[in-house]
Amino acid sequence: MSSHRLVVCASLLLAAAAHAADDSRPGRDPAQPVDEAYTRKIRAYTTEPFFLSPLVDYLPASSSNVPTPQAVIGDIAGAPGKLPYAADVYRYMRMLEAASPRVKVRTIGKTEEGREMIAVAVASERLIAAMDENRARLGKLADPRTISMDDAEADRLVAASFPVYYVTGTIHSPETGAPTALMELAYRLAVDESPYVRYIRDHVVTLITPVVEVDGRDRQVDIFNWHMKYPDRTWPGLIYWGKYVAHDNNRDAMGVTLKLTENVLNAYVDWKAQVLHDLHESVPYLYDNTIGDGPYNAWVDPLLTNEWHMIGWNNVQEMTRLGMPGVFAFGAFDTWSPGYLMFIAATHNGISRLYETFGNGGSAETLERTLAENQTSRTWYRQNPPLPRVKWSLRNNNNYEQTGVLVSLNYFATNKKLFLQNFYEKSKRSILKAKVEGPAAYVLPANDSRPGAQAELLKVMQKQRVEISRATAAFTVQVPRRGGQAGNRAGGQGDTTARRDSSAQSRVASHESRQFPAGSYIIRMDQPYSRIADALLDYQYWAPNDPQTNPYDDTGWTFPEGFATQATRVMDATVLNVPVEAVTGRIVPAGGVTGSGDVFLINANADNALATLRYRFRSADFQAAEESFESGGQRYARGSFIIKGVPQADLDRAARDLGLKVTAAAAPNVKTHAVRAARIAIMHTWISTQTEGWWRLAFDQAQVPFDYISTQEASRDANLRAKYDVILFPPAGGNAQSIVQGMPMWRNPMPWKNSPETPNISTLAQTDDMRPGLGWSGLANLEAFVKEGGVLVTSENTSQFAITFGYTSGVTMNTPTGNAVVGSFLRSRLVDDASPIAYGVKDSIALYSSGGESFSVGTSRGGGRGGGGGPAQRATGRGTPDDADAVQGRPALEDRFQLPPRPTVQPWQLGPVTDDMLRNATQLIPPEQRPRVVLRFSDQRDLLVSGLLNGGGTIAQRPVVVDVPVERGHIVMFANNPVWRGYTLGTYALVFNTIMHFDNLNAGRKLDEK
Ligand SMILES: [Zn+2]
Repeated sequence: MSSHRLVVCASLLLAAAAHAADDSRPGRDPAQPVDEAYTRKIRAYTTEPFFLSPLVDYLPASSSNVPTPQAVIGDIAGAPGKLPYAADVYRYMRMLEAASPRVKVRTIGKTEEGREMIAVAVASERLIAAMDENRARLGKLADPRTISMDDAEADRLVAASFPVYYVTGTIHSPETGAPTALMELAYRLAVDESPYVRYIRDHVVTLITPVVEVDGRDRQVDIFNWHMKYPDRTWPGLIYWGKYVAHDNNRDAMGVTLKLTENVLNAYVDWKAQVLHDLHESVPYLYDNTIGDGPYNAWVDPLLTNEWHMIGWNNVQEMTRLGMPGVFAFGAFDTWSPGYLMFIAATHNGISRLYETFGNGGSAETLERTLAENQTSRTWYRQNPPLPRVKWSLRNNNNYEQTGVLVSLNYFATNKKLFLQNFYEKSKRSILKAKVEGPAAYVLPANDSRPGAQAELLKVMQKQRVEISRATAAFTVQVPRRGGQAGNRAGGQGDTTARRDSSAQSRVASHESRQFPAGSYIIRMDQPYSRIADALLDYQYWAPNDPQTNPYDDTGWTFPEGFATQATRVMDATVLNVPVEAVTGRIVPAGGVTGSGDVFLINANADNALATLRYRFRSADFQAAEESFESGGQRYARGSFIIKGVPQADLDRAARDLGLKVTAAAAPNVKTHAVRAARIAIMHTWISTQTEGWWRLAFDQAQVPFDYISTQEASRDANLRAKYDVILFPPAGGNAQSIVQGMPMWRNPMPWKNSPETPNISTLAQTDDMRPGLGWSGLANLEAFVKEGGVLVTSENTSQFAITFGYTSGVTMNTPTGNAVVGSFLRSRLVDDASPIAYGVKDSIALYSSGGESFSVGTSRGGGRGGGGGPAQRATGRGTPDDADAVQGRPALEDRFQLPPRPTVQPWQLGPVTDDMLRNATQLIPPEQRPRVVLRFSDQRDLLVSGLLNGGGTIAQRPVVVDVPVERGHIVMFANNPVWRGYTLGTYALVFNTIMHFDNLNAGRKLDEK
C-alpha cells in the first residue's frame, strides 16, 4: 500500500505543475447564449445536482445553426428512453460536418455484417484545414528514422504540431451511454466558446468513433425498444453482440481477428494519434482504470506508465474539484494483458486509457440503483465514493462521460508539448530497443515445417503494422546454447531456448552459432512498433506469489507457441546486419503441384489449409496414410493426403492459393482410409454464445463450412445423424444442468427474432423463445446421434456436460480450485500419435488452458480412477521405513501369500484390468469402448509454457484430449479450449483432424487384451 501512496503523491505534483500552464476554468462563456430548452432538459434528466458539472450543465446555442443532438434523437442526449441506432448517430455527425467547418467525418471500415464504422474529427477551423500537414509532421514523430533520430528536428516538429486524442464508444453493447455522450461532446467541441473548450479545440484534434461494436449496438437498441414496447414482459439478454463474439470483442487487440479491432487499429495508426481512450460503463460512477493495478505489462515503455498516472490522477483531482462524487482511479484492473482495444495505443507508442462509468445495464430508463458495500466504501484511492442508493439516469452517465473526457482533453491540450515529446521519445526508444534492452530481432526460419502457421503469424504482425524483413542469404547468429535440461523441451514447436536463457543455470552456459536459411523472416526490433511484436512473440511469466491474486484476464499468450510455429528471440545485434528485403502484401508459403504421377501427395503437418483444401474439392477422393511412408526421397508423415480425382491444374491453383506443397507421384504402398468432407454442425445454447463464436470465426477463416444449430434444434430433431457427421459443442454458458434446462420457463416467452421493432436482431440464429434448453429429448437425440456413428466434439464445460449425463464411460474431469491456472499456455505430450486426431501434430505443442482443467481415465464405468500415486507406502509398525512389518507370534509370510508387484500406472493411463474386475465384469468397459487418450499435459517440470501456473501437481501428466468410442460413434473431449481468440491456431488441427477422420477415428488403435 505504501508504495501506491508514493506514486499518488508524485503524480499529483506533476499534474499540478503541468496544469499551471493554463488557467482557464471550466464553465460557460457568459457572452454566449445557451440553448434554453435543451439546458432545462439537461437539468431535468439529471437526478441530483451533484451529478452535473460546470462543463455540461448547459448547452451553448450555436450562432450558425449547427444542429444539436435533438435534431436526430428527438430529445436531448441522455434523455430517458432514447437510444439512437448507429445510423442515427452517424446521420447526426454528418449534419454537424455539413453545418460546421470544425467537423470532419471519415469512414474507417465495415463490420462483419457490413455496417459502417466512422471516425469524427473535431477541432478549430485552423487545425482542420491543416490536418494533412499536421499528420505528416506527426508521422515523422511516430517514425523517428525519417528524421534520422534528430532530437532538435523533433523539437521543431513538436512545436509546430497538435496532438490527436482518439475517443471510442460502446465496444460493449450493453454499455449504451457513449453514443449520445459523444454526439453532444462533438457539438460542444464545435460550438462552445467558453475559454476551456476553445482551448481544447485550438490545440487538439479530438477524434471520435461513437460506436465501435456497430452490429451489437443495433441489436441492443432493438432489444431496448422491444422492452419499451412491452414494458410488462421480461426481456432477453443480448446473447449476440457482434457476429462472432460478445464481451471478448475487447480482448482482440493481440490477434486482430475482428473487423472492429482492425478498423480502430488502422484509424489510430493512420491518424498518428497519441491517445486511445475507450469508454465502458460497468463501475459507479467514473472509474479511470487506466492506472489500473499491477502487474503492469512488461513490454511497454515506462514513459507510458508514468503518463497513465499523470492523466489519471489529474482526472480524479479535477473532477473532485468540480464536486462530482465517485470518481476514482487505481483499483481491481491489472494492466498485464495487451488484449484490450485501448492497448492498441499502449503497444504503438501512444497512451491507452479506459473509463468505466455507470450504466443501467443496457437500459435508457432512469432506475433506482443500490450499490454493494465494496462499491461505496471510502478507500485511499476513492476518497469520495459513490452513494449507496440513488436514482440513476442515462443523462447522469452522459454527464460523467463528457466531463471526464473534456477534463482529459483540456489537460492534454495544456500539456501538449510534453505529450508530443513523449510520443517522439517512446517511438525513438522503440527503435533503440534492438540495441538497448533487446532483443535485436525475432527470426522465423524459412525451413519451418509449418509454413502455413508461420504465414498466419506473420499476417498478425502485418495487421499490427509491424515491418517484416526476409533474409536474402543464409546467415548465422549467436543464440543461447541448447542442451542440458533445455534438451527436454526440444520437442516443443516454439523455440524454447530463449526461455531457458533466463534461468540461472543457462546463464552459465555459453552461446552457440545457429544458421538460418535464406528466406528466413526477420522481425527487427529497431522499428517504431517493435513493442507489440516483442509482446506477442515473447514468453510471459506471472509469478505465483504475485501480490495480484486475481488476474483480470489471460496471463499468457505467446503467439509462436499458440500457432505451433518457430520463432527465435535473438539478442545478438549482428542479426541487424543481415541483408534483407522488405516483405509486403499477402504472405503465402510456396505452394503448387510438382512432379508427375497418378496421385497427388501432401505431407501432413497440421496446417489448417489442409482442411480448407479438403472442403474446396468436396467430390475428390482424399485418402490418409495410416503410417508414414517415403516417396521420391521425401518422408511423408502419418496422415498425409493421397488425392485422386481432381484435375492437376485445379489442384495446382488451389495449392498455390493456400500455400500447400503437392507432389504428383506413384501411389505409395501404405495402409489408408478415406478422408471425408464431413457434414458439420456447430451447436450453441441460448444461454451464452460468447466463446463458441471464436470457433465460428476459425471455421469461417479456414473456409470449412458448417450449419449453425441451437440446442433447441437438437431437441426437436430425432435424426440428427441424417444431417450431420460431426456436431461441435464448443464451451457454452452455464453448467451441465442448465444446458438441458435452459432458462426458467415461468413468465413470458422471450423471442430472439427479427420483427418490425427488432429489425437487426439476427441473420444468424433466431428463436421464438430463448428459454427452452436442450431438454431431455435433446439429450436423447444427441446420444442417438453418437451411437449411430456421429462424432460429438466437446470442450471445457461441454465435456463436463457429456460426463454428467453419462454419454461417456471411464472419464472424469478435474477442475483445480483457486487460481492454479488463469488463461495460460501449458505444455502437452502426444500419448497416441497413431490416432487420426494427432495426424501431423508434433509432440509437445502448447495448449491454451483457461483454468487448468484435465481428465482422469479408467477402465470401469465411472472411470476416472487413473494412475499415479506412486508406490505403496508401508504402514505404521516395527522397524525402519524400508523394513517389512512383522506380526508377532507368527512366521513371516511365504511368497505365495504376497501380493504380486503392482505395475506403475501413469496418470494418463487406464490402469490394469485385474482378475477381480473380470470375474463379473458388469462395470468393466469392453476394450473397444474404452477412452483413448490422445494428448496429455506434460510432466510438472515442463508444464508451464507461458503465464501463471501455481502448483500444477494435479494437472501435470493428466489427459487433456480424449477420444471416447460410444457404440458406432465417438465423443472427442477437450478439457481445454483448442480454439480461442485467434491465438491458438496450433491446436485447430486437433479439431479439423477429428472432423476429416470422423468415421475412422479408431485407426491405429491398439486394444487392450482383456
Ligand atoms: Zn465494458
